[in-house]
Amino acid sequence: MSRDLTTSDAATLQAVLLEGGTTSVELTQAYLDRIAAEDAELGSYLHVDPEAALGRATAIDEAGTAGTGLAGIPVALKDVVVTQGVPTTSGSRILEGWEPPYDGTVAARLKAADTVLLGKTNMDEFAMGSSTENSAYRVTRNPWDPERIPGGSSGGSSAAVAAGLAPWAIGTDTGGSIRQPAALTGLVGHKPTYGSVSRYGLIAFSSSLDQAGPMARTVLDAALLHEAIGGHDPLDSTSIDAPVPVLAESARRGAGGDLSGLRVGIVRELGGEGHTDGYEEGVLARVAEAVALLEGMGAEVREVSCPAFDLALPAYYLIAPSEASSNLSRFDGVRYGLRVGDDGDRDLDEVMALTREQGFGAEVKRRIILGTYALSSGYYEAYYGQAQKVRTLISRDFTAGFDQVDVLVSPTTPTVAFPLGSRVDDPVAMYAADLCTLPASLAGVPAISVPCGLSDGLPVGFQIMAPALADDRCYQVAAALEAAQDAARGSRFLDQLPRRDAQPAGGVA
Ligand code: GLN
Repeated sequence: MSRDLTTSDAATLQAVLLEGGTTSVELTQAYLDRIAAEDAELGSYLHVDPEAALGRATAIDEAGTAGTGLAGIPVALKDVVVTQGVPTTSGSRILEGWEPPYDGTVAARLKAADTVLLGKTNMDEFAMGSSTENSAYRVTRNPWDPERIPGGSSGGSSAAVAAGLAPWAIGTDTGGSIRQPAALTGLVGHKPTYGSVSRYGLIAFSSSLDQAGPMARTVLDAALLHEAIGGHDPLDSTSIDAPVPVLAESARRGAGGDLSGLRVGIVRELGGEGHTDGYEEGVLARVAEAVALLEGMGAEVREVSCPAFDLALPAYYLIAPSEASSNLSRFDGVRYGLRVGDDGDRDLDEVMALTREQGFGAEVKRRIILGTYALSSGYYEAYYGQAQKVRTLISRDFTAGFDQVDVLVSPTTPTVAFPLGSRVDDPVAMYAADLCTLPASLAGVPAISVPCGLSDGLPVGFQIMAPALADDRCYQVAAALEAAQDAARGSRFLDQLPRRDAQPAGGVA
């Protein structure tokens, strides 16, 4: 019987590589074949370089290190991560054609670990969006239903991993962009504690919120990928100088299924009693079942109220655009990528204005206008200042909540994946997709999304939030839930991930 390398979890691939059951070249080729066959329709990648990938895989096979750590395992990177000599666009026309002269830390660490870069994945322009429809380049489809969105802004990464076009991928999360697309495609996605994964070489959206993290098919895989990218980096001034918590070990321990003594708080304001407006019944039902499973493993469950979470959405949509308006001022047609109207007759201001007019899409312009307005003198206190106060209240709610419980839980998203085109002209409806993920972003605490079953045949995500630097707790509880669900179902959730063909690609005897 042959084994399909593209449907397996990465930890298994590691073991198969180590025992010589496959090679990095064979593995990489299996993924490249699937990309070639399916990505024209799926739209998950913006850039794939098969030769470069196979070249690296060959070198790793020749060195004989495949299967040691992450060596020889392919990976996909969201196109917001700067990669030396590899086109990097952040989903925007304004960076079209730019080949960065350096690697961001996340890319550098994955390279140092001898992973094989398959390519750069599609995303909402500058990570602004929840559906990947704001990409300037292409539509990405949800492999569970090609007429639906794969989530965003890391929708290229989520679609690729769910469809078997990468074993795992890096996403970034500013207000939910790892957790929401993971939830909507049946994956595990973790937003690390703010400052625990380097932002050096991530194209900045909102610097006080942006974090890179893993998107994977299992909790253990997410932990392994996270360990490879995490830890202090002197190149990022907000990097926390603390060791990476032991994550894979926590996931393995969690899978043992003993949660006795763990205190779990259901956040009332995120789909709890009196707060179910906008939440789909199927989502609430799956989340309730997940909570019951946690209880069955010995956890003590209670409801916890976090009143300021009701204000997370307006606060986020002032803070993130304010920071974006400042961060995006560097795209001026002079330093990188696109330049429009530089014909010798126009002055610098005109060239800059034309470049930004043509280079930025509608959502990016909306955010720049909003942020510039919120920061302007006379309005600063009323908007940005108020939002910052709300941010403090949200952090205090977390502190008070974590005095009572060890983890807070909620749905990851109020609904399952919505149809393509259904929200793109209604920014406020689009913003509502992040209702549940924004509080953890604003407070900088870690949060994971783990699949908790299906509603109408589409995946539902369960969010687990923990105190800052307790990322290991997210992995432990998520792994316990994953194992309990798999046991109840009698099969692993990853076996349900959609595949276009039942034919094994790149099979091993
Ligand atoms: N959807 C949110 C936004 O549009 C969050 C995006 C993100 O996390 N990058 O800002």
